[in-house]
Amino acid sequence: MILSIASGKGGTGKTTVALLLAASREGTIIADCDVEAPNCHLFLRPKWETETRAGVMVPRFDMDKCDGCGRCVQYCLFNALAVAGGTPLLFPELCHGCGGCLLACPREAVSEERREIGVFRTGVATMNIPGQRLISGLLDVGTPAAAPLIKTMKKQLPHDADIILDCPPGASCSMVAAVAGSDYCLLVTEPTPFGLHDLELAAGVSGMLAIPHGVVINKSDGGRGDEAVEGWCAAHGVEVLARLPNSREFAAKYAAGMIDGEYREAADTLWRRLDREYRRRSDG
Ligand code: SF4
Ligand code: SF4
Repeated sequence: MILSIASGKGGTGKTTVALLLAASREGTIIADCDVEAPNCHLFLRPKWETETRAGVMVPRFDMDKCDGCGRCVQYCLFNALAVAGGTPLLFPELCHGCGGCLLACPREAVSEERREIGVFRTGVATMNIPGQRLISGLLDVGTPAAAPLIKTMKKQLPHDADIILDCPPGASCSMVAAVAGSDYCLLVTEPTPFGLHDLELAAGVSGMLAIPHGVVINKSDGGRGDEAVEGWCAAHGVEVLARLPNSREFAAKYAAGMIDGEYREAADTLWRRLDREYRRRSDG
């Protein structure tokens, strides 16, 4: 199963949930797709085994062939091109390397060259969940488009293991790139008005991508915030799969790298519910 862990905003606890789930099932692989601010490695302290530079192919223009018609500009969905004085200009930091301008050009004036965007590493945890396999991406400083790196990294994942994708926060293109192709998307939220608002956005993205999704309420205190999230989930047919209590004790344990007791039990229960949901949807 490819399980993506997403949330509408940062700091909600998706990495905590990803690590809890990894700790309670051997053989999983965590892919830290939050490539602008990866943090799983801080908890796992992996011994890195491989390191691969990632790049995208960006256009190069042959001005002997180009007549400045601007079709490439019209085609580019990412506003990475402009024509000035009959000359196409590339804003490489906006280019997603889709290759569309190459196809759009009627004069075969576009070729491609590689632009490096970041790195991804694979390794094995030495702390907290020893032996846990991790793949982690890191975008180069000054490269704003995370989606191409996430897509490149996901291509490296094996097909014969349970994969946990720790996704970027928000509901932007990088979140879409991370959750796309998942079998199930777990949306982590907080029981606050902000949490609910962001949950709605993230659930909207999962829905548009036709990815089944359920909710984990983190920092649950059984109060009005919980009721609001539960009410929204009930009204939209989204199941609340787990509630993790708002506990100082857990925060302290987690910060010290200890995942045990009721939290490990909660993770086991969550896996059982995820397996059940996955089977139900695969069969149905
Ligand atoms: S489509 Fe081709 S010919 Fe037209 S401006 Fe772009 S590169 Fe030049
Ligand atoms: S490769 Fe795609 S994103 Fe990049 S400039 Fe061409 S059309 Fe735009």
